[in-house]
Amino acid sequence: MLKIDFHAHSKYSVDSKSEITDIIKSARAKGLDGIVLLEHNNIAPMNEVRAKAGNFFIIFGEEISSSDGHIGAIGIKKPIPAGLSAKESVQLVHQQGGIAFATHPFSFRVPAVRFKYKSIPFDLMETQNASHWFSTKLSRLLIGNGLGGADAHLPEEVGTSYTLVDAQPNEASVIAALRSGKFRPVSNSGFFNYLSRFFKRRQKRAARPNKF
Ligand SMILES: [Zn+2]
Ligand SMILES: [Zn+2]
Repeated sequence: MLKIDFHAHSKYSVDSKSEITDIIKSARAKGLDGIVLLEHNNIAPMNEVRAKAGNFFIIFGEEISSSDGHIGAIGIKKPIPAGLSAKESVQLVHQQGGIAFATHPFSFRVPAVRFKYKSIPFDLMETQNASHWFSTKLSRLLIGNGLGGADAHLPEEVGTSYTLVDAQPNEASVIAALRSGKFRPVSNSGFFNYLSRFFKRRQKRAARPNKF
C-alpha cells in the first residue's frame, strides 16, 4: 500500500510559497510514499521539480478553477484553462486520458461544485481534505470512498490527510488502482488541528495583498 497525499500546492500555485525541497522533506518525515502536486490552474514544471525532488514519487496534477468550482485532475499533460464549466473541464481531462475529481466538494469557503456534482461526470470525489472539515464530513456521509489530501499550502501541512493506494509507485499503476477502486482516504489530523490551521492561514492571508 502506498501512502500518497493527493492534494499539495507549491510555489507554482499563486497562493503558496512552498519550495519543492521543503515539501519533499515534510512528506518523507510523515512517511509518505508519494505526493500529488495539484497546482492552481497550471501544472508544475516537471524538469525543475524533478531536479529538486530526487527519486521521490510525484504525480503532476492541476486544480482547475472551473466556473462551477474547483476540480482536481491527474494523468494530464496539458493544463486545462480556468473559467470553463465543470462539465467542459472534466471532458477536457478525459480527452487527455486523465482522472477528474471534485476537490473539497461541499466547501462553503472556496469555490466548490457542491450538489452539482451529481450531474458532472467525475471519475472520483475528494472525500478527505484536511483543510475543509465540513466538506469532508458531508462527503464522507454522502459519497463514501474517495481521495484524501491535505490541500497543503505550507510544507508542514503535507500529509495531514492522504490516500492509501494499492499500487506501484508510478503514475500508470496509481491511476489503474484508482479506476478499480483500490484505495481509501486517511485522516491524520483532528478537528482542532484543522481549526488552528484555519486561523493561522487567515492571519497569513490578511497580511498578504494577493488574496486567493
Ligand atoms: Zn481548492
Ligand atoms: Zn487546493
